[in-house]
Amino acid sequence: MSSPPTRPDPEKQARLLAELRRDQALRQQSYRERALRLLPHVCARCGREFAGKRLRELTVHHRDHDYHHNPPDGSNWELLCLYCHDHEHEKFRLKGFHQATAAPPQPPGTFQPFAGLDGLLKPQDAKGEPKPAASESAPD
Ligand SMILES: [Zn+2]
Ligand SMILES: [Zn+2]
Repeated sequence: MSSPPTRPDPEKQARLLAELRRDQALRQQSYRERALRLLPHVCARCGREFAGKRLRELTVHHRDHDYHHNPPDGSNWELLCLYCHDHEHEKFRLKGFHQATAAPPQPPGTFQPFAGLDGLLKPQDAKGEPKPAASESAPD
């Protein structure tokens, strides 16, 4: 009787990982290829043209910065040269930073984890010994 494979198979895991990576690379390659097929091989910012080997320097930028968002009509893609692409992301990063600092902090009091505590404490409070007002003025 052969024992079932209980321990992880490193070879199989490596193969799975390689497949996963290839899948990811393929997906990225495919949107790049689709973008290159759809759009003119010109940097959308500086207008430089790219052909042949230099086409590698032309990269796909996602207008909404969401690289999972790849509409088939190419409306979220922009071909940018490496330099302009870098610049575009720097701009986006700075904008995000400014927005983050300018935005007011989360309004306090929208979430009150102890909101129910008041109701729990009050009845006990009422049951507690009320201090007689008379004790305030010492009898002479
Ligand atoms: Zn450019
Ligand atoms: Zn980009």
